Amino acid sequence: MKKIVVIGGVAGGASAAARIRRLDEQAQIIMFEKGQHVSFSNCSLPFHLSGVVADSKKLLMMNPNSFEAKYNIDARVESEVIAINRDAKTVTVQTVEGTYEENYDKLVLSPGANPVVPALPGIELPHVFTVRNVVDIERLQKAVVENEAANIAVIGGGFIGVEVAENLKLAGRHVSLIQSANQVLTPFDFDMAQILHKEIVDQGVQLIVGDGLAAVAKGEVTLRSGKTVAADIVVLAIGVQPDTKLAEAAGLEIGVTGAIKVNQNYQTIDRDIYAVGDAIEVYHRIMHKPVRLALAGPAQKQARAAADHMYGIVNQSRGVIGSTSIQVFDYAAAATGINERTAQQIGMPVEAVYVIAPDKVGLMPSSNPLHFKVIYEVPTGRIVGAQAIGKGNADKRIDVIATLISMNGTIEDLKDLELSYSPMYGTAKDVVNMAALVASNLLAGRFKQVRVSQVRPLVESGAVFIDVREENEFANGHLKGAVNIPLSQFRERMHEIPRDVPVYVHCRSAQRSYNAVMALEHSGYSNVANVSGSFLGICLYEAFEDARLDRELIVTKYNFK
Ligand code: FAD
Repeated sequence: MKKIVVIGGVAGGASAAARIRRLDEQAQIIMFEKGQHVSFSNCSLPFHLSGVVADSKKLLMMNPNSFEAKYNIDARVESEVIAINRDAKTVTVQTVEGTYEENYDKLVLSPGANPVVPALPGIELPHVFTVRNVVDIERLQKAVVENEAANIAVIGGGFIGVEVAENLKLAGRHVSLIQSANQVLTPFDFDMAQILHKEIVDQGVQLIVGDGLAAVAKGEVTLRSGKTVAADIVVLAIGVQPDTKLAEAAGLEIGVTGAIKVNQNYQTIDRDIYAVGDAIEVYHRIMHKPVRLALAGPAQKQARAAADHMYGIVNQSRGVIGSTSIQVFDYAAAATGINERTAQQIGMPVEAVYVIAPDKVGLMPSSNPLHFKVIYEVPTGRIVGAQAIGKGNADKRIDVIATLISMNGTIEDLKDLELSYSPMYGTAKDVVNMAALVASNLLAGRFKQVRVSQVRPLVESGAVFIDVREENEFANGHLKGAVNIPLSQFRERMHEIPRDVPVYVHCRSAQRSYNAVMALEHSGYSNVANVSGSFLGICLYEAFEDARLDRELIVTKYNFK
C-alpha cells in the first residue's frame, strides 16, 4: 500500500489528493494544511466583500470530515509541515500540540504563493490587510464593517487588487486603487487597458497609476510621488511570491524565476517529490521559457497530471499559454497568450488587429460593442495572443483563441473558423472572424493601418484625417482638424482628398472606413491608412490619460457610443 503525503490543502493539494484516491483505492493519503480550512474557493474570496457571496462559509467547498467520508483522505488542518527529510522520507509536522513525523512513499508539494509585503514604514499597522484565504477575507470584511471604513486604499492593480477594489466599491466604500505600473491588469496591452481604466473611474473608484506605495499611517497612505490618499483600511495586492521555503530547505532545485523547478511530469529533482501550483515554474509554450503562472486552472491540471504520473499514466503537457478572465464592473475582460509588450520583450515580430464589433446582432436588446484584439506573428500569421473586453461574452471569444493557440492556429484558421450563431448570441461573422479578415488583408498587404496609440502625434503634427461618418455623427465629436466626407458622399467628394500626403481614414468603429480606404486604393491613392479602432477606439484610448495628464484633447468632444 502506497502512503502519499500532500502539503497544502487547497487548489493543487486537494485536487492531487482526490485524483490519487480515484486512481488507488488502497493508498493512504494524508493532506496537511497549515491554515484552518481546506478546499476553499480562493478565486471567489473578493466577492464576499460586496455580499455577492454573503456567507463566507459558502466559500468552503470541503472540510476534513467530508474528505474523510467521501474520499477516505485524512485532511489535517492547522498542521504545518516544517521540514521535509528526504533521506528518511518523512515530513515534520507542527501543530498546536507539538511536532511529529510522518513518513511517505510519495510527496506532493502544493504550498502556493504568499502575498508580497514590502518593507515600508507603517506596513505592520493593524489596518493593513492581504487576501489569500477565507480567514483573511473574513478579517478584512469585519474590519471594514466594524470600523465603518469610509476610505479604503487598494495597493496593486493586478487581478486580486481590481477585484477587491470593485467589490469594496460595490459595498459602498470610497476606494482608491493604486498601481505602480502605468496600467492595471498587465496581461492586457496599454491600449486595451484604457477601456478598463475608464470603466473603473466611471464606477467611482479613484484610480492612480504610475505611483506606488511609500508609507502607511493611520488614516492615510503616502505614495512615492509624495501624494497622500485617505485610507482607513489598506489592502495590499502587489503580487505573490512562490512559497519555496520548504523546498529550498530540503535542497530541491529552484528555477530561474525563483519558483520550484519541476520536469514535465511535475517531479522535482527528487523523483519521489512532486510539486504543483503557484509554487512552481512552468514552461511557456509561446515564449519558450520558464514562467510563473499563479492561476487555479493550471494548478488543478498539474495536480491531476502529477497524481497520474505516480500511477504510470503519461502526461502530455506541452506547457502553458496563460488564459485569464475578470469582471471589471459592467465589463468582462479576458486575455490569452502573450500581449504585444511581451512579444516586443522577447523579440518576436508581431502585428495586432483591434476590432470593435457588436457582440450580438445590433437589433438585439443586449447587443453591445465587443473590443477584440488579436496578436499574430508575422509573416507566418500564427496567433500568439488575444484580448477581449465588452459587456457581453468576452471570455467566449478568448476561449476560442486559446484553443486555436494551443493547436498552433493561424489567422487563416481563424478566418474560416465555423462558430455557432444566433442573433441573441453572436453575429453571422463573429468579431473573432472579423479580426482575422482584417489581419488576413493586412498580411496580404491589401491595406495599411495605424493604431489608436499613433493618432495623437499624427493629429499634433497636422496629418490629414478623413472622417467618413455621417454629418450628424461628426457634429457629435470628432478629431480636431479632421475633414468630414461621409461614406454616403464619398465617391462624389473623393477628389477633395489630397494625393501627395498620407491620409488617415476613420469612422466610428472601422467598418465603414475600411470601405473608404479600399475605394481610395482602387482610385490610385497610394498612401492611405485605416485607423484601427476608429473614433470610438480613439476616445477610449485618450480619455483616462487626458484626465490623468490634464493635457489638451485631440478630439472636439468624446463620443463613447
Ligand atoms: P493554494 O490554493 O494557495 O494552496 C496552498 C495551501 O498550502 C495554502 O492554503 C497554504 O496555507 C498551504 N500551505 C503552505 N505551506 C504549507 C505547509 N508548510 N504546510 C501545510 N500547508 C501549507 N486564479 C484563477 O485562475 N482565476 C481567478 O479568478 C483567481 N482569483 C483569485 C483570487 C484571490 C483572492 C486569490 C488569492 C487567488 C486567485 N487565483 C485565481 C489564484 C488561484 O487561487 C491560485 O493560482 C491557486 O489557488 C493555486 O493553487 P495552489 O495549490 O498552488 O495554492
